[in-house]
Amino acid sequence: MKMVFIGPPGAGKGTQAEGIIKRYAIAHLSTGDMLRAARDAKTEIGVQAEKYMSSGQLVPDSVVIGIIADRLKQDDCKVGFLLDGFPRTIAQAESLDQMLVEAGTPIDVVLELKVPEEELFRRLASRARADDTPDAIRQRLVSYANQTMPLLDYYGKKGLLQSIDGLGTVEEIFARVVGVLDPYKV
Ligand code: AMP
Repeated sequence: MKMVFIGPPGAGKGTQAEGIIKRYAIAHLSTGDMLRAARDAKTEIGVQAEKYMSSGQLVPDSVVIGIIADRLKQDDCKVGFLLDGFPRTIAQAESLDQMLVEAGTPIDVVLELKVPEEELFRRLASRARADDTPDAIRQRLVSYANQTMPLLDYYGKKGLLQSIDGLGTVEEIFARVVGVLDPYKV
C-alpha cells in the first residue's frame, strides 16, 4: 500500500501512523522525523531547517523534496509506504507525482485526519516539544491552512482523498483508519 497521510499539526497523525505501518507492514516516511534527526545531528540540511522548524514555518520545498526523493529509492519502500507530513505544499505534491510516475508506483489513497482548530491548539499547547511555543503553534496552524489544505482539493480531484473524523480515543480513530485502508490491502 502506498499512501499519504494528511492532517493538521496536533491531529494525532504520528500515533495513528505507528499503528498503520505495523498493520500493513509498510515503510514510515516522516519528513518531520527526518528533519529533527538532521537537526540533532547538525548536518548542513539540519542546521538550515532549524530556523524554519523553530518558528513553525515550512522548510523550503527543495530541501524536503530532495530528502523524500532519496528516501523513496530505498528498497524498503518497494512494498509500500506511508508518507507522513509530506507533501505539505502543491509544489511538493507535484514533485511527488513526478517521482512516482518515474518509479511506476502511483499512490493508492490519501487519508485525511480531520480535527477542529480549537482542539488542535489545546492538544499542541499541552505537548512539550521545543517547536511548540504559542507563536510557533499559531504559525504551524496558519501554514497548514494556507499551504497544505489546498492539497485536499488537489487529491480530491484525483479521486484519491478519504477523510475521517480525528476526534475520539486512539482506538476509536484507528478503527476508522482501518475501515478506510483495509480495502486497499494487497
Ligand atoms: P512535523 O513533525 O511533521 O509536524 O514537522 C515538524 C516541522 O518540520 C514542521 O513544522 C516544518 O517546519 C518541518 N517540515 C516537516 N515536513 C515538512 C514538509 N513536507 N515541508 C516543509 N516543512 C516540513
